[in-house]
Amino acid sequence: MNVGELLLFGSLVALANVCGGVLLARPGTFHRSKRALRYLVALGAGFMLSAIFIEIMPEVFALWAGKATSDVAASEGVLGAMTLLLGGYLLIHFFEHTIAPHFHFGEETHPEAVVRPSAAYTAIGGLSIHTFFDGVSVASAFVVDRKVGLLVFVAVLLHKVPEGFTAASIMLASGRTPARALGATLIIGAATLAGVLCVALLQTRATEAVVYALPFSAGVTLYVAASDLIPEVNHLEHKNPFVSLVVFVGVALFYALHVLIG
Ligand SMILES: [Zn+2]
Ligand SMILES: [Zn+2]
Repeated sequence: MNVGELLLFGSLVALANVCGGVLLARPGTFHRSKRALRYLVALGAGFMLSAIFIEIMPEVFALWAGKATSDVAASEGVLGAMTLLLGGYLLIHFFEHTIAPHFHFGEETHPEAVVRPSAAYTAIGGLSIHTFFDGVSVASAFVVDRKVGLLVFVAVLLHKVPEGFTAASIMLASGRTPARALGATLIIGAATLAGVLCVALLQTRATEAVVYALPFSAGVTLYVAASDLIPEVNHLEHKNPFVSLVVFVGVALFYALHVLIG
């Protein structure tokens, strides 16, 4: 995988963030796309979960325990990888939900919670740390294997439009202008690209960087799928039980692509 290709896929996922913001900045388009976005969140959650457990984790175990010469070394490798995974998960819990006073994925419908000037910015800051690792996930997956890279790229891409839309809606709910809302999607998009660049640069200096980046960013992705997207799906379920079924469609779509690309 060369740097040019990495940047191309990285730019595409970053651009999807801005697309989500553009949708919200145009109210007519937003109301028509609101329904489609719900399904995209559910589809993204199912696809992402499958990509983590079926695509990324086997690669992580191969990197950490594949060359172990004893059972003890293999289990130490698995322990190391799992510790990084937990670390990635907890990092996002800290920045999105401990530091930020109010954050959830999807449309911001609690303007009273983000009306304080700092609240919206802290939420965007937390989201930027998460999107940085979206970029790290895609890039390190491509460095390890092209097929894994493509599937992780699709997994991340699916939640990028709703993510940009989340960022823009936080800004609008806190009374910022549509231009500022769009600016917030540019920031989270740029953070995604920065994550891709970081892996690309580290890779040229230390080839083992991806050994650590892959399980850590998988922990971040796990948080996004299981603790940001799934609760959003369940929240929407009250209005439309069909949305939660779409998570399984995401899993099926992942499997179809897994077989097709393989
Ligand atoms: Zn809210
Ligand atoms: Zn994300």
